[in-house]
Amino acid sequence: MRTLDTCANPGLILSFDFDGTLHDPAEKPPVPASFFETILDLRQTKGAVWGINTGRSMQHVLEGFIESNFPFLPDWVVAREREIHFPNTFGRFAAHREWNDRCEKEIHKLFKRSKKTLKAVRKEVEEHTGAQYIEMHGEPAGLISRTEEEMEWIVERITPLIAAIPDLGWQRNSIYLRFGHRNYQKGSTLSEVARLFELDTARTFAAGDSHNDIEMLSPEHSGYAACPANAVAAIRELVAARGGLVTTAAHGQGIVEALRKTFP
Ligand SMILES: [Mg+2]
Repeated sequence: MRTLDTCANPGLILSFDFDGTLHDPAEKPPVPASFFETILDLRQTKGAVWGINTGRSMQHVLEGFIESNFPFLPDWVVAREREIHFPNTFGRFAAHREWNDRCEKEIHKLFKRSKKTLKAVRKEVEEHTGAQYIEMHGEPAGLISRTEEEMEWIVERITPLIAAIPDLGWQRNSIYLRFGHRNYQKGSTLSEVARLFELDTARTFAAGDSHNDIEMLSPEHSGYAACPANAVAAIRELVAARGGLVTTAAHGQGIVEALRKTFP
């Protein structure tokens, strides 16, 4: 898979969540061809640099590109809501070491400090719900609930438990929850990408559908925001409240609508 020619004069950063935003597993192809046509247009007219900003791991991101028949690769990828990767000219992705290493180090320190608290969270969740506590390499602490309702209950219950450690936060996406550092999420990572392209937050556009998109859809980290019609209620409310666009179409068609209307 190829990358687009390097953008000589970046003028805009486009940040897209993948699952539920661009990608609809019920559609064929899961990401509409019109999305890529729109990206090419905006590349020409606005100097748009585009990226996928997702909770998926890098491996899982690449699988998504193949499954969705991406005609060309994005200019950047944020994986696991916090790791920045750039493709080289051969289309191979390499980690942006400076940011990723700092992030990894801080999370490691934070989790050391949070051991007791996370233990209490685990006990609470395992005693009262059927959710599964995840602990593995690269994924130090997370939860998978059986239903969205169960996750609602968990979030309410664990909020006071983790309040004692201000840096400890989480990213939630339907029945999945990943604990992490409050300073490293899709929003702060998008701001870092913009900084690397020497652009201001005002020149960034973000689109997402779920709770883990909250930070990047906030004015602190994006100048423009949109969500597809299928986004969860909290996201539709957030985007509408800041004057962003809640599209009439769902998934990828909604994102094409958002780009066409935001950048006519
Ligand atoms: Mg999503």
